Amino acid sequence: MNSQTQLKIEPFDAIPSTEKPYAEVVFNLPLRDPFTYIIPPKLLGKVRVGMRVLVPFGRRRITGYVVNLVEKWDKPIALKTIAELPDLEPIVSEEILSLTRWLADYYQSAWGEAISSALPAGLDKTSYQLVKAVRLASNLPTEEEITDLLKRSPKQKSVFDLVRQKEINLAELETLIPGGKSALRSLKEKKLVEVFTEKKERQALVPEGTMDQPFGSHLTFTPEQEAVFNEISSTIDAGKFQSFLLHGITGSGKTEVYIRCIQRILEMDKTAIMMVPEISLTPQTVKRFRQRFGDRVAILHSGLSQTERYLEWKKIYEEKVSIAVGARSAVFAPFKNLGIIVIDEEHDGSYKQDSNPRYHARDTAVMRARSANAVVLMGSATPSMESVHNTQLKKYKYLSLKSRIGESMLPIVSMVDMKRERKEFKNFAMLSGVLRSAIRDRLSRNEQIFLFLNRRGTARFVFCPDCGYVLECAHCSVTLTFHGTEDRLLCHYCNFKARMPNHCVECHGEVIRFSGFGTQKMEEEVNKLFPHARTTRIDRDTTRGRDSFAAMHRDMNAGNIDILIGTQMITKGHDFPNVTLVGVIHADLALNIPDFRSCERAFQLLTQVAGRAGRGKVPGKVIIQTNNPDHYMFEFVQEHDVNAFHEKELKLRRQLNYPPFTRLVAIELVSDNESLVKSTSEKLGRALTRQATRNKGVEILGPSKAALYQIQNKFRWHVILRGQKMQALQGILADSRELQELKSASSGKLKISVDVDPFNLQ
Ligand code: ADP
Ligand code: ZN
Repeated sequence: MNSQTQLKIEPFDAIPSTEKPYAEVVFNLPLRDPFTYIIPPKLLGKVRVGMRVLVPFGRRRITGYVVNLVEKWDKPIALKTIAELPDLEPIVSEEILSLTRWLADYYQSAWGEAISSALPAGLDKTSYQLVKAVRLASNLPTEEEITDLLKRSPKQKSVFDLVRQKEINLAELETLIPGGKSALRSLKEKKLVEVFTEKKERQALVPEGTMDQPFGSHLTFTPEQEAVFNEISSTIDAGKFQSFLLHGITGSGKTEVYIRCIQRILEMDKTAIMMVPEISLTPQTVKRFRQRFGDRVAILHSGLSQTERYLEWKKIYEEKVSIAVGARSAVFAPFKNLGIIVIDEEHDGSYKQDSNPRYHARDTAVMRARSANAVVLMGSATPSMESVHNTQLKKYKYLSLKSRIGESMLPIVSMVDMKRERKEFKNFAMLSGVLRSAIRDRLSRNEQIFLFLNRRGTARFVFCPDCGYVLECAHCSVTLTFHGTEDRLLCHYCNFKARMPNHCVECHGEVIRFSGFGTQKMEEEVNKLFPHARTTRIDRDTTRGRDSFAAMHRDMNAGNIDILIGTQMITKGHDFPNVTLVGVIHADLALNIPDFRSCERAFQLLTQVAGRAGRGKVPGKVIIQTNNPDHYMFEFVQEHDVNAFHEKELKLRRQLNYPPFTRLVAIELVSDNESLVKSTSEKLGRALTRQATRNKGVEILGPSKAALYQIQNKFRWHVILRGQKMQALQGILADSRELQELKSASSGKLKISVDVDPFNLQ
């Protein structure tokens, strides 16, 4: 039916206002506006905002979310009718509805997509099941006839007798009477029973929490912790919205502060969300919260099956618990009386979702807390530039813990210049002489060693092995990436192109291309050098499940591993007191990623890794190998001077016009058709540039090839919008017809996505 068809829809006169006859429904699909559906008479008054509905959509039937009920429909379009109402109660509260609405607007996705990401993945499958069951036929023959019909088949008789006692589902029948299902067919033919489909509410399989369990005992705060806690708890007691940034080195007792703040919240009969990066949601973290809060805690992590996730979510929804511990999506925990959201490692990249809706959980948490009058407590040893800037703007209150608890001392950090290693010692291996002898020394003392290799830098950059100089874009101050097919160096922000130089522009040495090392190669080298050491490698390739991770953990603690080789996977949330040496191989890798945040990340990573050394009584040692030992970042790592790093980095960001002093939106275009994606990006770039000239303070960078230009035979381009105010950028996006058209036509052929406040610009 096309929209020209005039169709008169009679209003339902006699309906009280609470029984509005139309529902506006959104879907987990990239659609801009809600769709209106007729509420059928049997569901009038039952359909409420925040409920799911099953509705016809095209030729399918899909789940949608009711976001509004309306009295009138006067557009000349025929409406379809809601088919089913799976829930008895709304599953999305008003609070989450308005949060997701904001989120969808801000992050340029659809409302339904935002709602869907606020709900557990297992919900659609598990909240109710359609079950086939069997019952007696409605018009049974006489008893005599029945006896006659069944007399030659005892199996059919026993099935029939069972069904006579109660309705029974088919699975249950089969366990009670094996082979019972096949007997059913004859019973149906004899018109003694009928099979029907029944809707079954899923049972909670988990024992309910006991709310009166006492808290675990807690430690006496240090004076520093006490001061920090007092500041936060006075805001908690006042029931006001406020965001805090707690800056404290690893082991300074931040988690203790979180726990006590949460406890305070629970004493006020409120609820708490504790967010940690997925990677640090280790059994240790969980255990710590379980010990303190018993089964008042629901844990949401990706190691759970969909059903388990759903059941944890349901405990929150039904108010059987008062704390949710989880990664990014825990920000949507359906608590009603939220008092605090704690975000540990607030700088962590995993808080930004890298698929639609591309929300940042930290910023979403602040929005949620604002409307709930709750407190946000962000903690980190290496806060993000955004949060530091926000403390300077007085949006967040700055709190700090300056010393480590107990005797454990900060590690001694030293640098090894790998250029010298090659030039003077003719050592072209991965491990320097200094690191080798340090390893030998720890092995002889039965201490553990952690060798860290950052593998994230997969883009190829060019550096001079003599002076360590890395080629950068003259305009953007990001590393240029080598593209073999064109034999050119490219900037992935502005598309600046340069020829591959014949020699280094700094020292006139010979230039070579760099193409990366892996942990596997390192393991081979270590095995060759230290054949008697027990070496284990842990990275994404070796850890498929959580089990191997847990096994590594046990082996480390039991002292069954001498040398652990790993990537960032192991930098967080682990506390191995017997690790006294940390070696960082190729620290430059992190630095040379073509992203304006690469320096910030490298600093965070190295500080994080260094924090792994010497958490026991022996002071640890960190050896950082690099081609570029004079980079300012290393100085701050060596001196453990986070604040000085922030100052320097913020100054550079301001000079170069990067966040947090500006805001960015990245539009990404992906296609397997290389020329299509190029021409479309250029066209979009021109259109946006035209618009930007009418807006003061907005510039368009690119279009340019993305740093990781070709992934799985798809080609990526991006256009970056930069401006002082996000509102101006959002305005351009909303007004751009080209963009809206591309978005609504986005498909496998040419996919377009908009990333607001992008975190990865590769
Ligand atoms: P962070 O979260 O900053 O890394 P934690 O809270 O995990 O620090 O504290 C580090 C270690 O010190 C933990 O083993 C913790 O139990 C212990 N700890 C924390 N606060 C105190 C305290 N006030 N007294 C004694 N031990 C403490
Ligand atoms: Zn550039």
